[in-house]
Amino acid sequence: MTTGDAILTLNAGSSSLKFSLFAAAPGALARLGDGQVEGIGEAPHFVARVNGKVSAERRWPHGAEMAHEAFLEAIFTWADGQLAGGRLAAVGHRIVHGGAAFAGPARLDAGVMAQLDALTPLAPLHQPHNLAAVRAVTRIHADVPQVGCFDTAFHHGHAPVVSRFGLPRQYEAEGVRRYGFHGLSYEYIAGRMRTLAPELAAGRMIVAHLGNGASLCAIQDGRSIDTTMGLTALDGLVMGTRCGALDPGVILYLQQTYGMTAAEVEDLLYRRSGLLGVSGISADMRDLLASDDPRARDAIDLFVFRIVREIGAMAAAMGGVDGLVFTAGIGENAPRIRAEVCERVAWLGAALDPAANAAGQGRISAPGARLQVWTIPTDEEATIAAQTRSVIPSPND
Ligand code: ADP
Repeated sequence: MTTGDAILTLNAGSSSLKFSLFAAAPGALARLGDGQVEGIGEAPHFVARVNGKVSAERRWPHGAEMAHEAFLEAIFTWADGQLAGGRLAAVGHRIVHGGAAFAGPARLDAGVMAQLDALTPLAPLHQPHNLAAVRAVTRIHADVPQVGCFDTAFHHGHAPVVSRFGLPRQYEAEGVRRYGFHGLSYEYIAGRMRTLAPELAAGRMIVAHLGNGASLCAIQDGRSIDTTMGLTALDGLVMGTRCGALDPGVILYLQQTYGMTAAEVEDLLYRRSGLLGVSGISADMRDLLASDDPRARDAIDLFVFRIVREIGAMAAAMGGVDGLVFTAGIGENAPRIRAEVCERVAWLGAALDPAANAAGQGRISAPGARLQVWTIPTDEEATIAAQTRSVIPSPND
């Protein structure tokens, strides 16, 4: 890469397309701006920001039949304007599932795309949208190299006892094992903690990524030791619309008693369960915290209880824990959830400083508490940009 080169990151979901633009001078990455297209499929709305201020905006009234290309054109046009003659050196994509094959970022060619297509059943909420964005970029900018950055990759290197299910071995050989997700976020947090609290980062941390999707990761000296998600992003914590860990017998019961098909079970477990299913009100934690409906309280109680129980499991996987870090939408913005979790892990040495928890930035545990507790905003785009740069050769190489 040379001065003037830039990297565009894309995170394509079912109804949104998030992007960031980074200047990639040798040895440094600087964010030039970011934004998103929301409401895809309904009334799409594109907003780009520079230094937090809106720098471009566009609405489309009839989005139902629109392909990704129209939104990408708007993003590329905005990016060109920011580059002032510089070159877009690569596009880095968030890709949820990299399966067993990808332990790090990879250039996206036809062969790699075929491998990633085959993983779609393992991440039906995300993988098809992630890959559609790659294909759309290929159609409009075939000349720009594209790189896949995988949520699973950070967890490669788990001990076999961590990644193995109690199933006959033939299935493991075919790839049926625990992979883990949210790795782009965990990699970012591990890096931030190395800067902010190097001693803690060299020790044993549990990072709680609590967004619409939610998981915990046990990180020891910067490496993932265990995590709550498995083959798919359904396992572990209760999430916005996903059930989290479930007795597998429940699935048999649903099939046998209600005659549910695989597609119906998938819809139930991915889209109609979790906070939404338990509360019957909303998948959005803000709505539940603002509600005085007892079902909202039930959903929050379950969300907190499962985090607390899995913190115990992650601590066990590392033989103890020195720090707990909250991140993502709920982790960064909901002091009440942090307080409820920390009250219930007082046995591990957690004690919050209430004022610091209310402020929610940096270290929030009381001075001298045995378990350090932190709140750190995640930045998956920064990880995508750094990983993308690592596989794009510089013209001077
Ligand atoms: P995603 O997994 O889609 O990236 P986010 O990390 O943006 O999700 O997190 C979304 C979640 O964060 C939602 O449940 C939302 O309610 C929650 N959230 C955002 N802001 C707040 C807030 N101020 N208080 C409580 N929850 C919040």
